[in-house]
Amino acid sequence: MALQTTLILFKPDAVAKNLVGTVLSRFQAEGFIVRGMKMMTLSDELLAEHYSHIADKPFFPSVRGFMQETPVIALALEGEDVISRVRDLIGPTDSTTADPGTIRGDFGFKDGDAKMRNVCHASDSPEAATAEVKRFFKDDEVFSF
Ligand code: ADP
Repeated sequence: MALQTTLILFKPDAVAKNLVGTVLSRFQAEGFIVRGMKMMTLSDELLAEHYSHIADKPFFPSVRGFMQETPVIALALEGEDVISRVRDLIGPTDSTTADPGTIRGDFGFKDGDAKMRNVCHASDSPEAATAEVKRFFKDDEVFSF
């Protein structure tokens, strides 16, 4: 077991559908602690960096446009093995293949946008989590108490 902090983004579909509290309560029910939280609009530059691994994909411009439809809410979330446990809680990228009971299975789009409008982002490795928390939060925006 390792105490970790992961980066969550509530994506514009979650914000537009008022799902933020519902999804956050699932994380808090696991005992994970909110260490930082803020609403923000995402620039082209920040999205190019955050999604550099898909920047050459034909669907990247659609993802960038989607992520700019509304502000997102960024969360620095702490807990034991939080990175992999949150990935298990949210389910796979494609909401139509996500099991009921997972966040994407319960709340993601089930139509043609199912691979894109999937409720939230979560870091997928310790290396990504470290880089992503730094990308979205200044040092003094992540709190220990
Ligand atoms: P994940 O968010 O599950 O880690 P990726 O890192 O592979 O998935 O992709 C980043 C985001 O890009 C996804 O969450 C989704 O919003 C979008 N995306 C991924 N694949 C597709 C696709 N084939 N079509 C449309 N959007 C996609």
